[in-house]
Amino acid sequence: MLDLCCMIADDETNDIRIEAALVKLYASEMAWKVGDELVQIRGGRGYETADSLEARGERPAEVEQILRDLRINRIFEGSTEIMHLLIAREAVDTHLEVAGDIIDPEASRRAKAEAVARAVGFYAGWLPTLAVGAGFVPGAYAEFGPLAEHVRFVERSSRRLAASIFAGMARWQGGMERRQAFLGRAVDIGAELFAMTACCVRAKAETASDPAGVELADGFCEQARVRVDALFSSLWRNSDASDRRLARKVLEGRYAKLEDGIRHVRDDLPWVAPWRLGPATTPDVRRRLPRRG
Ligand SMILES: Cc1cc2nc3c(=O)[nH]c(=O)nc-3n(C[C@H](O)[C@H](O)[C@H](O)COP(=O)(O)OP(=O)(O)OC[C@H]3O[C@@H](n4cnc5c(N)ncnc54)[C@H](O)[C@@H]3O)c2cc1C
Repeated sequence: MLDLCCMIADDETNDIRIEAALVKLYASEMAWKVGDELVQIRGGRGYETADSLEARGERPAEVEQILRDLRINRIFEGSTEIMHLLIAREAVDTHLEVAGDIIDPEASRRAKAEAVARAVGFYAGWLPTLAVGAGFVPGAYAEFGPLAEHVRFVERSSRRLAASIFAGMARWQGGMERRQAFLGRAVDIGAELFAMTACCVRAKAETASDPAGVELADGFCEQARVRVDALFSSLWRNSDASDRRLARKVLEGRYAKLEDGIRHVRDDLPWVAPWRLGPATTPDVRRRLPRRG
């Protein structure tokens, strides 16, 4: 995925904002899952530190260290939740450009009327493109050999994803931006499709030098398709509404009794300290701050 993204960037004619964000999101999440599996496979030895293993006369594989280090990738340089929002915003950008004023409560009547005219023109051409494509044609993408069926799946699913996002916009309109769980699943589908594409393109490019790559790409795509199918189902069949109601009640303290007996951290300090320039701020940073007065 990263290689493909870099190649697209090297072309210098492409905007790779979405691809780069998808790589950051997908790689961070997948690496975490892989690290977690690795700990599980090594059992108790996966949980032990390298020093502890060595002290017992075993190879000091720093697997628990790897897992701890992989965890931060889901938080910094754009946390997973923020990456979802950022990518979703890009994904609906065209719709907002075309029809944004229709759902904007502050747009004037004239702006709304113009947006309706724009939207009719745009969607009359765009919606039919969702119905048909190479992904529906048996034998399409034959140049990918045994991976062609996966490429067709990606093509069909891309249309389905576009249709799902459109359906979400039609249903929730301006409220779509608050449907974070829906948007997150849509982004995850896009990330899986991008990862599948990257695998197939790479395997095809290296078929001669690395024939085993096709088998690996095939295995990855089979797994990704199961994840994509599950994500599509959960777009419309999920517990989001009840989760939201429940979360609100949790915040209201309705279930505070469940917290009885839980060990609490000391409460004489705030959860988030007020910001101040102090010894923890390096002189280098302070020099760059504007002087007061
Ligand atoms: C080891 C390490 C190194 C770091 N290095 C740097 C550095 O070099 N430079 C630098 O500037 N910063 C650095 N940071 C800080 C890092 O950028 C922040 O930790 C990160 O941006 C997350 O912000 P936060 O910790 O304030 O979490 P918060 O913003 O408080 O987020 C807490 C949780 O809520 C989620 N969340 C927040 N907003 C939303 C939302 N709107 N919708 C849904 N979920 C949301 C987040 O995804 C996260 O899971 C570093 C942090 C660590 C741990």
